[in-house]
Amino acid sequence: MLEAIMSLGGIGLSAAVALGFAAKKFAVEIDPRELAVLEVLPGANCGACGYPGCGGYAKAVVAGQAGPADCPPGGAGAAEKIANILGIAPVSADPQVAVVLCQGDNAKAQAKYRYLGLHDCNAAQKIADGPKACPGGCLGLGTCARVCPFGAIEMTAEGLAVISREKCTGCRKCVAACPRSVIRMTPLDATVHVLCNSTDKGALVRKYCQVGCIACQICKKTAPEAYVIENFLARVTYEHHQLAAPAVEKCPTKCIRDFVDGYPEGSSFAPPTCGVAPGAAA
Ligand code: SF4
Ligand code: SF4
Repeated sequence: MLEAIMSLGGIGLSAAVALGFAAKKFAVEIDPRELAVLEVLPGANCGACGYPGCGGYAKAVVAGQAGPADCPPGGAGAAEKIANILGIAPVSADPQVAVVLCQGDNAKAQAKYRYLGLHDCNAAQKIADGPKACPGGCLGLGTCARVCPFGAIEMTAEGLAVISREKCTGCRKCVAACPRSVIRMTPLDATVHVLCNSTDKGALVRKYCQVGCIACQICKKTAPEAYVIENFLARVTYEHHQLAAPAVEKCPTKCIRDFVDGYPEGSSFAPPTCGVAPGAAA
């Protein structure tokens, strides 16, 4: 019995010595600046900086592999604090927000077929390039809303993703998640946007969407510096977005909107329903 106790004790002692030695030998030194940077980050671990989580970014920024302004959710505030920690000149990041460039919800846009599969935009997109007749329109299954770490995306009752300008931190998670590339990053101070993502000719757009851009050029004629038309699609030239507002009322399809209150007027929100049927064929 005594022998067994002594033997167990010996094993325990050797293990403790070995562990203590390993802890010293293999200890990873953490630069205190890394911890300080971590403290000023939002802690969302969203990956918008391009690193695996806030810890990865803190390490990279201290190592000089990332810039102080490379954390979009942290914005200018975090960038300034990080620059102070590193003792370098503050760099200002241009704040951006994500916008869904589409208004073609179930009531306003046609479908090619009725989709009753997995409630996921990427899954729907894999079946004949998605159920929406418009190849660039929002599929309305809310994949973007589910990946947003900040709860900034809501789905309207009619199946359209809409992003809150107030809640969006510019992390770009939704941009990466959307299979239709319908979400774009835009300057925070620009409130006027062309909410269309179709590059089809106007005559075709008219057939499948009531609110798509038909490339009629009226916006460009109204505010020449503020708009360009490319591939049958108008877009705001954000360098001159301050001049874009007069075209909002002139656009015949009302696809130019001013997000004066954070959302385009008339948005109605409700949890997404299962299966998208935008103007679905029976
Ligand atoms: S914006 Fe993209 S990811 Fe979001 S609901 Fe529309 S298609 Fe799906
Ligand atoms: S006025 Fe409207 S429909 Fe015409 S090109 Fe401009 S955005 Fe498109």
